[in-house]
Amino acid sequence: MFRQKSLEGTGNTKRFQAQKEKGLAPSELFHHRPDYGVLICTTCHYAIQPGAIRRHLKDIHHLHHEKRRPFIAYTKGLKLKRPEEVQSPLPGDFPVPQLSVEKGWRCLAPSCNYLCASNKRMENHWPAVHAKKGDPETDWHFTLLQTFFRGRMLRYFTGQNQRQLQNTRDKPVQIAKAQEVAVSQDKQLEISLAKSLQEKYHLDALDSQLLRHYFDFSYKTFVTNKKTESVWIDVVPGLACDNKFLLQGMLACTALHMAHSNPVEREKYTLRGCCHQEAAIPEFRKAIENPTEYNCDAIIAFAYLLVVYSLATDLEQSSNPLLIIDARPFNTQHIIPPWLHFIRTGCYMLKDVWHRIESGRASILAYAWERNLDEDAWSEESTRVYRHAANLLAESFAYVDRAKNTIGLTAWNILGTWPVRIEQGFFALISEKHPGALILLAHYCVILNQIGDCWYIGGRPAILIASIARILDKRWRPYIQGAVKEVLGPGGIEAV
Ligand SMILES: [Zn+2]
Ligand SMILES: [Zn+2]
Repeated sequence: MFRQKSLEGTGNTKRFQAQKEKGLAPSELFHHRPDYGVLICTTCHYAIQPGAIRRHLKDIHHLHHEKRRPFIAYTKGLKLKRPEEVQSPLPGDFPVPQLSVEKGWRCLAPSCNYLCASNKRMENHWPAVHAKKGDPETDWHFTLLQTFFRGRMLRYFTGQNQRQLQNTRDKPVQIAKAQEVAVSQDKQLEISLAKSLQEKYHLDALDSQLLRHYFDFSYKTFVTNKKTESVWIDVVPGLACDNKFLLQGMLACTALHMAHSNPVEREKYTLRGCCHQEAAIPEFRKAIENPTEYNCDAIIAFAYLLVVYSLATDLEQSSNPLLIIDARPFNTQHIIPPWLHFIRTGCYMLKDVWHRIESGRASILAYAWERNLDEDAWSEESTRVYRHAANLLAESFAYVDRAKNTIGLTAWNILGTWPVRIEQGFFALISEKHPGALILLAHYCVILNQIGDCWYIGGRPAILIASIARILDKRWRPYIQGAVKEVLGPGGIEAV
C-alpha cells in the first residue's frame, strides 16, 4: 500500500519491515537523507533532531514504549548531524520533497540572506538590521521557503538564487523575471506533488488524467480569491499524500467537473467520480470519529469537497435540482432543497474537530467558513425561530459585504454563512411554506447568486427564488420583489 523507500546505507530494511505492525514502518515514517544527515518525519513534514527522536515518537505519534523500539533501532543505524551542522540545500535541490513548503519573503539587501515567513517580521528586520524602514516594493521579495527543523532550530532556505535577486533591485523587468522564478517554483512543487501522489497510490491512466485536470483547472473552481488558492494547490494535495480519502475526494470532484465540461464522455467520468466518492466516505467517517491534529486538516478539506460533490451530483441526477416544490403532496421533507440540508448537517458533523482545524494548515478554509455552531435549545415557536434566522441573515449580508473587501468572496463563505447557522426549526418552517421563512430564503438567494457562475451552483439561486415566488401568497410578494429583481434581472419572475 505504501511506496517502498530506499534505505540508503543500512541493511536494516527487511528486518524492520518484518516487524511492521499496523501503520508505517520505521523507514516509511522516517525518511533518511544521508546527503544532509537529517531524518525527516514523513507525517509531520519536518526533520527531527537526533536527540529528540524518542520524544517525537512518544509525544507526537503517541507510540508506547514497545512500539517505539523498532523505530529507535532503525534510527540508531543512521548517520545524523546535529541541527547546527546541517547544511541548507542548494537552490537547485529545492524543494526537498518530504518537507512542507511555505510562502515567505527574502531580504534583497546586498549580502543579507534573511528569509522569513511573515511580512511583519520583514518590516521589523529592516530597521533592526539595515537601520531604515524598508520599502516593500524594492527591499524584499516573495519567495517559497522550507526549513528542516522547527522551533528553536528553525532556519529557512529557498530555491532562489541570491545574486539574481540582488540584481533585481529597482529593476522592474528583472523583478518580473524573479516573479516568474517564483511562479515556476510553484509549478515545480505542483509537479512534485502530482508525482508523489501518482507513485504512492499507483494511479491508473484515467486517475492520472483526473489528477492533471485537478492541477490545471479544477482546483481553481474551488477558490475565488488569492488566499485560498495556495490551500487548494499546495496544502490539500500535500495532505492527500497522507490521507487517501482526501485524494479520492479531489478526484471525485474533478471527475464531476470533467463530466460537466465533456458531455460526450459524461458517463465515464461520472462513474469514476462515484467510485472515488464511495471509497472515500467510509474512510472519512472513520477519520471524523477519530479526529487528531494529524488528520483534521484533511477532514475540513474533504468536507469542502463533499459540498461540491453533493451540489454537483444533485445537479446531475435531477432535472429539477432544487426540489422546493415536490410533486408528492404529503412529503413535506422534500420542500427543503437537499443541498441546503446537507450544508447544515455536514457542518454539525465537524463541530467537534473545529477547534483543531482552526489552528491547522488548512485554517484559512475554516475562517472562510466563519460559522457559529452554538447548539442553543430551539423552540417550536415560529416567530422566535424566524427572528433568529432573520438576524442571522442580516449578519450574513454584512459578513458577505465585509468579506468582499477583505478575504474575498468564496463559494465557502457564501454557502456557509447562513444555512449552517439557522435552527432546525427554521427548516420546519420552510416545509410548512411559512411566508416569513420563504421570504428569508428568497433573500439568501441574493447572497447565493454572487457565486452563481460556479459550475456546481448551476443556476440554483434563480430556480430557487422563482420557485419561492410561485408558492408565496400574493400579499407577501412585495417583500421579495427586490430580491427577485436582483437575482432574475429586471424581467423578474417572467424572465424564467
Ligand atoms: Zn512526526
Ligand atoms: Zn536584510
